[in-house]
Amino acid sequence: MTTFFIEHQCPQCGAPSVLEESDRLFKCPYCRVASYLIQNPYFRYAFPNDASEKSQLIYVHYWRFKGMLFSSAPDGVQHRFMDTSCQAVQSEYFPASLGFRSQTLKLKFVLPETPGRFLHPSFSRDEAMKIFVRRFSKNIPEPVYHQEFVGETLSIIYSPFYVKNQMIDAVLNTAVTSSLPDDFSVESFPGGSPQWNPIFVPTLCPHCGWDLSGNRDSLVLICKNCNTVWFSKGEKLTRVKFSTMKMPGNIFLPFWKFKATVEGVNLNSFADLIRVANLPKVVKSQDYKTEFIFWSIAFKVPPKVFLRLNRNITMAQPRNEQINELSFRAYLSGHASRQGSR
Ligand SMILES: [Zn+2]
Ligand SMILES: [Zn+2]
Repeated sequence: MTTFFIEHQCPQCGAPSVLEESDRLFKCPYCRVASYLIQNPYFRYAFPNDASEKSQLIYVHYWRFKGMLFSSAPDGVQHRFMDTSCQAVQSEYFPASLGFRSQTLKLKFVLPETPGRFLHPSFSRDEAMKIFVRRFSKNIPEPVYHQEFVGETLSIIYSPFYVKNQMIDAVLNTAVTSSLPDDFSVESFPGGSPQWNPIFVPTLCPHCGWDLSGNRDSLVLICKNCNTVWFSKGEKLTRVKFSTMKMPGNIFLPFWKFKATVEGVNLNSFADLIRVANLPKVVKSQDYKTEFIFWSIAFKVPPKVFLRLNRNITMAQPRNEQINELSFRAYLSGHASRQGSR
């Protein structure tokens, strides 16, 4: 899988640094200030250009997706790794995808002051996802009952071009079209300056002001001082309900729990699960009172393990005593996207 690297300046001291695409928690090696990167709603990056200063740059919007696609098919759940991009501006003058050069170049965050004309996309995120699904659904036996993305990173990457008799790729300074029609006008493509800013928030607990902790790719941060857990929503950190299972041991793994409305089958209690899934268990009276919950792991594992663990823990419906307290030894930093595994 491709990993992009992003050249970036510390929002506090301006020191240069390089981020990985999945990084959320950024700690500046110079001023030691930590900040948390909020997706708003997608990260927007641009390739560096090598055009002369006089060139009027045109930035073309590409959707970029990295994650897993799970498809429920007659012979089981299939998975595909997706690491792909597609042109979001419908035009024959620009390449259909970003190709492979993205692996070697460092991207930059797009800022409102980044000079150039940023073309508006001709189609939305949902339409781009449909294209990706079609691309990655080949050889999956029909009918496909349901498809879902997990651990998704959907971002926008702008690639720079300019016109000099031909359409020129401003990264490589090479032509991407043989010639342009006489009446070609960049103005015919809707666009303008990018109205977007990356959002860095200080990693201070919004409740008590203590430093929040997590790994560099954590989506969830914890405050060990006031026993709270935080997740980004909109442009700020919001509190996440959590509990810790009281069990022997000192390694704690994070899981998401969901209460979902299930149509077509009765799946409201543990007793319903025993019946629907044909579990080798005798239904006890308290099983009718135990609410059925979906469980999903919130740390990174290969797709097969992801499916197996989620199935096993959901089948088990753990009911050990839970407390609203974080252990200081707890490893509790959610990695997998909650949105992706909804
Ligand atoms: Zn700094
Ligand atoms: Zn706190």
